[in-house]
Formats: sequence, C-alpha cells, structure tokens
Amino acid sequence: MFINISELISTPLKTETFKVPVDMPTYEWQGEHFPFRKKGMLLLNLSNAGVRKVHMEGHWDGSLGIPCDRCLKEVLVPFHIELDETIDLSSERQEDLADDSYVEENSIDTDALINHEILIHFPMKVLCREDCRGICLKCGKNLNHGECGCDRVSPDPRMAAIQDIFKNFKEV
Ligand SMILES: [Zn+2]
Ligand SMILES: [Zn+2]
Repeated sequence: MFINISELISTPLKTETFKVPVDMPTYEWQGEHFPFRKKGMLLLNLSNAGVRKVHMEGHWDGSLGIPCDRCLKEVLVPFHIELDETIDLSSERQEDLADDSYVEENSIDTDALINHEILIHFPMKVLCREDCRGICLKCGKNLNHGECGCDRVSPDPRMAAIQDIFKNFKEV
C-alpha cells in the first residue's frame, strides 16, 4: 500500500495516523519465499517535521516460517519492529533517498518498508532447537527423530555446527 505524504511534508504541525495491512503474500529474499505465519497491521504515526520532512513512528508485529538451518523443519520466527525515524525529502537529501527504497515520489510504500525492516532484523542463524542434530547427509533422515543407521563420519552434534559453516560458504 502507498501512503501519500504530500500534505504531511508541506503542512506544519500536521499529523496523521495510519493502520494498514501488509499485502505481500510471503517475504522474499534472494529467490526464497518465507510464509508469514502472523501478519499484524502496520501502525504508523506520521507528523510534519519541517520543510519536506516527516517524522515516522510505527510498530509492526508478525512472524515468518523459516526453515531450520540444519534439519529444514519450519521454525516460527517472530518480528517486533519499532520505527522511529525522519524521512527527509528536502532537495539536498534527494541523492540519499536511494537507500530508503520505501519512499517513492511523495509516498511511503508500506510493503517495501516492512520488507526493508524484516531484512534488517532477519536472524543470522535459525535452529529448531540449540542441539538440532540436522539431517543425515547420506539418507536424508531427520536425526532428531532417531538414528538412521548410516555409517556417518560425524554423528557428533558439534559437527552439525561445522556443517552449517560449510553451508554458509556455499551460499556466498
Ligand atoms: Zn532443526
Ligand atoms: Zn542416514
């Protein structure tokens, strides 16, 4: 959804409150889609903060289903996002706006804003539990459900952490 802020940036003392839904069906990052398991309304308080400036305070709660790094089981990862920043559309700042991809013309793209915030808060590591044993690299069995009987070199859960590191290397 787009919130037009033309009036807000040009009217001293003007304040507006918005409660908008998040429209995107999944959170997408590098071609991977993560489903929303909870998708709260985005609350935004916008107020004029000078010539072509708007102060934005906001709050959003949601959660995503993200696969465990070791066994791929879905983990519910909550996001509590607090916003408190000033959008500066004065002419001398126009070049910097390339970073704020959620501000377009005189509008805030709320989905792009949530997308940007999820990216910032996205966990480096997602595990279904600290000692997740991962999956057997030979037969693919989830080792949290018991041994598969394969002759593996690394039955030790500490080795699973090393496998994560290799996995991370592959992703780079
Ligand atoms: Zn796991
Ligand atoms: Zn196996």
